[in-house]
Amino acid sequence: MSAALSSQPAIAETVDALRAIVRGYRAEGETVALVPTMGALHEGHLQLVREGRKSADRVIATIFVNPTQFGPNEDFARYPRDQEGDLAKLASAGANAVFLPTVAVMYPPGFATTVTVSGVSEGLCGAFRPGHFAGVATVVTKLLLQALPDAALFGEKDYQQLQVIKRFARDLDIPVSIRGVPTVREADGLALSSRNAYLTSAERAVAPRLHGLLVEIAEKLRAGEDAAPLLAAGMDRLREAGFGPVQYLAFVDAETLAPLDRAERPGRLLVAAYLGKTRLIDNIPVAPQGA
Ligand code: AMP
Repeated sequence: MSAALSSQPAIAETVDALRAIVRGYRAEGETVALVPTMGALHEGHLQLVREGRKSADRVIATIFVNPTQFGPNEDFARYPRDQEGDLAKLASAGANAVFLPTVAVMYPPGFATTVTVSGVSEGLCGAFRPGHFAGVATVVTKLLLQALPDAALFGEKDYQQLQVIKRFARDLDIPVSIRGVPTVREADGLALSSRNAYLTSAERAVAPRLHGLLVEIAEKLRAGEDAAPLLAAGMDRLREAGFGPVQYLAFVDAETLAPLDRAERPGRLLVAAYLGKTRLIDNIPVAPQGA
């Protein structure tokens, strides 16, 4: 369906309006999937919406650039924003409703609660972005409780975030199924990201090496090689290619995110590195040897 022909999603700007929309769906006996985003939408986000449509009658997308998940020196102020373009894309992907809260709606005066998740939040991005996952966990907890959908969809692109969300949803008995969706990539392997817009054309040409390196290392891990030397050599190769600082290149258990020495059970290979001023992350699954 073209964007021009698709019906316009309902818009909610307050929690009451969002709940009224969900009540309407429930009154018809319909199931609901939620797709939280920070906007500046691309095909990766739209894939979450399409996957949501496959498993639920209605999909509600949310657009909220959440200030509490950005550090003081991060890109909150310059994060790309394009509400009009986003709404057209969501309509074309088949979203039925969009929740567009302001900061005052999400964090009214007196707001004093933070959801922190130990364990899975602590290493990897958590070590370099203090407070980031508490900001994510708090805002996603609110969105899940505001909409109370049957399912919520998140990208594997942000793999640690996905594990953090699965953890607190389980721990807090939030009755929503948390679903991961595989990363959508450019033809050259670069994971789609709103932050790719920051890359210069020279950086854009180098950026796909991040994924290329993960694929090469994953093959060697599957062949039984030890992780430590592969990871050390991989960090060097990223620096030689022009990345830096390389924050981490890690091989971990796919669920707990604890470091793994070898591919003896389902693992995940993850990387975070700057390219110029842009921080890029990526990850791929590593099946155990012989699987
Ligand atoms: P963001 O707007 O960056 O907060 O992302 C919103 C959701 O889209 C998160 O669940 C992300 O993991 C997901 N997402 C972002 N990029 C991709 C991608 N390339 N493929 C699949 N999902 C993605």
